[in-house]
Amino acid sequence: MRAVVATRAGGPEVLDVVDRPEPVPRPDEVLVRVAAAGVNFIDTYLRTGTYPTHYPHVVGSEGAGEVVAVGADVTTLAPGDRVAWADAPGSYAELVAVPERSALVVPPGLDDRAAAALPLQGMTAHYLTASTFPLEHGHDVLLHAAAGGVGLLLTQLAAARGAHVLATVGSAEKETLARAAGAADVIRYRELSDLTAELPALVRDRTGGRGVHVVYDSVGKDTFEASLASLRTRGTLVLFGGSSGQVPPFDLQRLNAGGSLFVTRPTLGHHTATRDELEWRWREVADPAAAGALDVRVGATFPLADAADAHRALEGRATTGKVLLLP
Ligand code: NDP
Repeated sequence: MRAVVATRAGGPEVLDVVDRPEPVPRPDEVLVRVAAAGVNFIDTYLRTGTYPTHYPHVVGSEGAGEVVAVGADVTTLAPGDRVAWADAPGSYAELVAVPERSALVVPPGLDDRAAAALPLQGMTAHYLTASTFPLEHGHDVLLHAAAGGVGLLLTQLAAARGAHVLATVGSAEKETLARAAGAADVIRYRELSDLTAELPALVRDRTGGRGVHVVYDSVGKDTFEASLASLRTRGTLVLFGGSSGQVPPFDLQRLNAGGSLFVTRPTLGHHTATRDELEWRWREVADPAAAGALDVRVGATFPLADAADAHRALEGRATTGKVLLLP
C-alpha cells in the first residue's frame, strides 16, 4: 500500500510517499480502507519535532473509511462498516489499523469527506464549548482563526449556545466564512499594526468596555498577550494550540494583576478518555452534521502524493475549513 512517511524532523520536504506492507490488525483493531485522511496541525508539530516522536513514521491520525478486516477480539464492528477516527497513527495511507475503542460509527447521511473532517476538529470544538468553558446565552467570546478547521466548527457551536462571538481572521474571504458560521463581529487581525495593543482595545470597544468572558486561542505565540488583555475580570483564557508557535513561560502573578484570571491548556485526548465520553462527543457533532444542522466545510483536498503541499498550505495560512488527503 502507499503511505506518507516523515523521514526525519523538518519541513514539508521530509514527507515521502512510499510503498509499505499492509498493516496487520492486532486482536483489538480493525483494518480500514481509508476514503479520506484528515490533515491537522498536530501532524505538522510531529513532522517538525515540535512534539517529540520517532522517525520515520507514517503521518496522520485521523480519517474515515470502510472496515475491511477485524481482529479476533473485535465485537462491535464488521467488514463493510463505515467508521471515522481521530487517533489512529499512520492515517496518511491507503490502509490503517484503527483500535476498536477509537472507531466511531459514521451515521447515515454523513459522507466520507465530512466524516473524515469531523473527529478531531469537531470533538475539539465540542469539548471547548461544552466542557472547558461551558458557554451560555449572553457570554462574550473571542476566538482566533475562525475560518480554520477548528475555527468554523467552534464558531458554529458557540453561536448555537447563544454566545456573542467576536472572531479574528486573516483575510476578507475568511471574514465571509466566519460571519456565515455565526460570528457576530469579525476583526481582520493581520491588518492591525500592533496586535497586542490594538486587539484588546477593539474587543473592549465591542463589549461595552468590559472584555470577554472567554478567549479560545489556538494561534498561541502571536496572540497570547492580546488574548489575556481582552478578558474581563475573572475571565478564562483557553489556550489550545500554537499555530504561530508555542507560548513562552509565563509568570502566574500576572493572572492576579489581570483581574483574577484563569488560563488553561486543554487537549482532546483528556476529553475523550472513556468510550462513553468519546461516543457522546462524536454523536454531538456527527448527528447534527448528518442532519445538515452543522456545516462541515472541506476547504481543500489533495491526493496522498501531495501531502507536502497540504502541509505547506495549512502552515501557510492558505486554507479554510478542513484539509483532506484522498488516497
Ligand atoms: P487551522 O485550519 O485553524 O489553520 C491554522 C490557522 O491559524 C491559519 O489558517 C491561520 O488563520 C491561523 N494562524 C495564525 N497565525 C498563524 C501562523 N503564524 N502560521 C500558521 N497559521 C496561523 O488549523 P486546525 O483547525 O487544524 O488547528 C487549529 C489549531 O488548533 C492548531 O493550533 C492546533 O494545534 C489546535 N488544535 C488543538 C487541539 C487540542 O485539543 N488542544 C485539537 C485540535 C486542534 P488566519 O489566516 O485566519 O490567521
